[in-house]
Parts: sequence; structure tokens; C-alpha cells
Amino acid sequence: MDTRRGRIVVVGASIAGLTAVEELRRLGHEGQITLLGDEKAAPYARPPLSKAILRGEAALSDADLPALAAGAAEFVPGARVRSVSTELRRICLDDGETLPYDGLVITTGARARTLADLGGVHDSRIRERVLRTADDCARLRDEFASRPSVVIVGAGVMGMEIASAATRMSLDVTVVDQAPPMLAQCGPYLSQMFTAAAEGAGVKIVLDSGGARLVHRDGMTAVRLSDGRSIAGDLVVTAVGCLPNTEWLAGTGLADRGGLRVDSRCRVTPEIVAAGDVVAFPFGDRVRRTPLWSNAVEQARVAASALLRGDDCDIHRPMPYFWTEQFGLAVKVCGQLPVIGEPEAVKGSMADGKALLQWRQEGRPCAAAAVNYRIPISRLHQLAAQSAAVQEEGSQ
Ligand SMILES: Cc1cc2nc3c(=O)[nH]c(=O)nc-3n(C[C@H](O)[C@H](O)[C@H](O)COP(=O)(O)OP(=O)(O)OC[C@H]3O[C@@H](n4cnc5c(N)ncnc54)[C@H](O)[C@@H]3O)c2cc1C
Repeated sequence: MDTRRGRIVVVGASIAGLTAVEELRRLGHEGQITLLGDEKAAPYARPPLSKAILRGEAALSDADLPALAAGAAEFVPGARVRSVSTELRRICLDDGETLPYDGLVITTGARARTLADLGGVHDSRIRERVLRTADDCARLRDEFASRPSVVIVGAGVMGMEIASAATRMSLDVTVVDQAPPMLAQCGPYLSQMFTAAAEGAGVKIVLDSGGARLVHRDGMTAVRLSDGRSIAGDLVVTAVGCLPNTEWLAGTGLADRGGLRVDSRCRVTPEIVAAGDVVAFPFGDRVRRTPLWSNAVEQARVAASALLRGDDCDIHRPMPYFWTEQFGLAVKVCGQLPVIGEPEAVKGSMADGKALLQWRQEGRPCAAAAVNYRIPISRLHQLAAQSAAVQEEGSQ
């Protein structure tokens, strides 16, 4: 494409889409950029939706993302893209309008996966709440205020953050999963730490290796365990992952239910790039989605650069990193996850509830975590990858 003046359309107005626009301008793109998003609200950050906002400690407006610089892009909210013709280089909106492009940036993210998506019974009487959007958050927060009990299916990061917010609002909370909290994401050491904190706050954790499903019972939605027992709650929330928003790409052959496949520079074709939760990125001989905030930001920068510079742009080097806040724990984790074995406390101590932890494999650092301990992310990555001396950073 004409790297200075071509017309670029960005589909999906969240963190990846906004970051791509900013990066395109930073790299000197002078042509028109149109940013299309199907949500009506101005772009917002999702991480606070399961943290301070759900706990009632912050307003929804606190999640608003900073507006783009004046003139950076024409932003069209409430604009859902229905399809794309890659031969004609045109996208088609739900209202029938079509838009030509020279370059296309796909940042349509993901939506909450439901138990029904996982093969559950489709019964219109079953009420399954999820948390993905600002509207979901507002509704859950209202419902938490008026319902005495909640059952959460899924003990991953999201499910446990929802459980934490619910206990903070004095609900009776049960979490159901096949495995202990966050075991798959973090490994046994951190899983035990999160489990102890949750149980200390009164959360009941029910393990059901057979897989729970939802049923309608006595006018309520209940969670049916594989041994036949049911757990009813005034509210049932599921947090069982997310699905990439790729349906509008049907017929292009570019994407499937596993996501939109890109190369190591986040390119789908030379004139189409993609970033964020929608992307399936190559890791060796496998492709995998990494639906995490910092991944969306980093991929968006690479994607914008690849659209303008092609092979002259650096490849994307994923740096696994996530953070969570739950049950009084503020934890940042990076490195090769899930991590096996006992860590060493490089600073602080777990007995005091504030520590900088490092794991080693065959003598070499492989992962690090900051538990209620303030440290720049770059330093945490360093600690995960090499045994550099870490200065005292203070604790939070
Ligand atoms: C409640 C919650 C808490 C989270 N907490 C953390 C956390 O603590 N740490 C962390 O690292 N990550 C966290 N995440 C994940 C993080 O928010 C995502 O990785 C990030 O939002 C991905 O950004 P994205 O721009 O790729 O996609 P999204 O944020 O999903 O945005 C995609 C946008 O595209 C729009 N769209 C979809 N289809 C179309 C279409 N056809 N036409 C137009 N627009 C379309 C969508 O409506 C949406 O607005 C959390 C996510 C949620 C939901």
C-alpha cells in the first residue's frame, strides 16, 4: 500500500484498535484512518471491569481510555462490520454502507464464551451471566447489590476476580471448576496462594473433574455437578474463556473458531494486519491466542508497523505477562507459565504478604511474580529471564 497516504480502516475500537491508530500516526502515516467500533460507548479498558469497578470502588467512567489526538482518525461508534471482500478491498457495514481500504487493521477482539458454547443445553429459561463489556459489568454490579448468593463457574483469573468482588459485597460465593483456582494459568504454588486467600474470605470452592453444566430447577438456574448434585444461587455467572470475533470474516478463508492466523509480524496478508484477542499467533509449530492486555498493545504496534514497512518491521516477540487483583492480593506474573515448583523470595517474604518471587528451571530463572510488591514490569521480565540483582523497589 501507499505507506504515507493510503486509506486505512481499523475494525474494532478497543485497546488494540486505538494503539494501532496511534502507532500508524507515530510512524508518519498521513492518509485517512477510519476507526470502526460496534459498541456505542467511547472505547474503554476491560481489566478494571472485574476489579475496582465491579467491587464498587470506582465508576464505569474510570475505565474510559484516553481519547485519540485530534485528527488522528475518524472514529465511528456503533458501526458493526458485517463482511469484507479482500479482492475488492472493501468492508461492508451492518447498515449496508461499504468502505474501501488500502490497508485493513483487524482488532475485533473476543467475546465471553458461555457454557452453552461448550456444548451445554440450550434452554431459554437458563440465565447465564458473563463479564466482557461495560454493560455486563453494570448489570452484575447491580445484581450483586440485590442478590444474596452467587455461583461462579470457572476458577480462572476472571472467575476469581468476580468471586473476590462478590465477597467484598457480602454475597455468599461458590466457585466451581474442574481444577483448583488458576492452576492452569499459574501453576501449583500461586494457585494455592489464591485458593487460601479466597477460602479465607469465605468462598466455597467446589472441584468437579467431570465438568459442571447449567440446569433450570425450581424456577432458578442451578449448576449441576457430574455426580448429580446441584448448587443453586440467586445468580449464576460463568467465566470459561473467550471466543474470537471472526464471524464477519466468514468466506475469506482467513479465520476459524481458533482465531485469525497471522505471521510473526502480525500480518494476515500484505495489506491486512491484526492484533489483540482475535489473533492466533505462531509459537513454534503451534498457533495460539493470548487474550491479555499487554499482548494486545504490543501486537498492535507491530501490526501498524508491518502494514507500513512490511518486512522491514521487527517481528513480535511475545512476553507472557498478566496481573490480577483479588482477595487483597495484587499480583503480577511473567515468564514461562504455568510454573512448577517452589520459588525463592528474592525480596520481602510471603510470611509478611509482600514478596518478589523467582522460579528457576535447571538453575536458570524462568518466571517471576510480584505479590503486593511494587516493581516496574520491565524489571519483573528481567527477573523472569535472568538473575539480575533487583534493587529495592518498595512495596505497595
Ligand atoms: C473483565 C475483564 C478483565 C480483564 N482483566 C485483564 C487483566 O487483569 N490483565 C490482562 O492482561 N488482561 C485482562 N483482560 C483482557 C484484556 O482486556 C483484553 O486482552 C483486551 O481488551 C483485548 O483488546 P482487543 O482490542 O484485542 O479486544 P477487545 O477489547 O475485545 O475489543 C474488540 C472491540 O471490537 C469490537 N468488535 C467486534 N466485532 C466487531 C465488528 N464486526 N465490527 C465492529 N466492531 C467489532 C468489539 O465490540 C470490541 O469493542 C480482561 C478482560 C476482561 C473482559
